[in-house]
Amino acid sequence: MSKLDAYRTLMLDSGCRPMCAIPWTRGLVLDLSDRVDVMEYYDQVVRTAHDEWPLPAVIRVRQYLRMRNRTVALTRRNLILRDSGTCQYCGGCPSGRELTMDHVIPRSKGGPTTWENVVLACGPCNRRKGARLPAQARMPLTTQPRKPTFLATSHRALVVTVPPEEWHPYLKVA
Ligand SMILES: [Zn+2]
Repeated sequence: MSKLDAYRTLMLDSGCRPMCAIPWTRGLVLDLSDRVDVMEYYDQVVRTAHDEWPLPAVIRVRQYLRMRNRTVALTRRNLILRDSGTCQYCGGCPSGRELTMDHVIPRSKGGPTTWENVVLACGPCNRRKGARLPAQARMPLTTQPRKPTFLATSHRALVVTVPPEEWHPYLKVA
């Protein structure tokens, strides 16, 4: 493992919105293939026998890339990403194993297991709410649960990976 392995390239769509982080090797291949514009380079080069190339830090695809209409699976991990690891009732950030999936409309009242009806809740809030609606329990939600898009979840994922300084100007997009 060389220390170069730690470098990743932030990929922006043609509208400069962050799409994903890719290994710098893929970033460099895209750079050399002339399909992207490089917005920032790292202060770091990779040398071969005859050449040296700077590592791309941020690249922007030239053309609109058709994002496959990916649906985001309702999994515990994705729910934690969507709700930023916070209880949607008290706003607390308990440790991973104290986070539970709460049905806003309880299952016993016919509430479905869908993105719009599940939120992250800490154990105490989940127990306190029980089989009641938020209004009945006087426990308003901090945010209305929505179905996340692929971009939203990958953007969140970028944020939790501690982005390098070169990415900062490009991550301000909501
Ligand atoms: Zn809570």
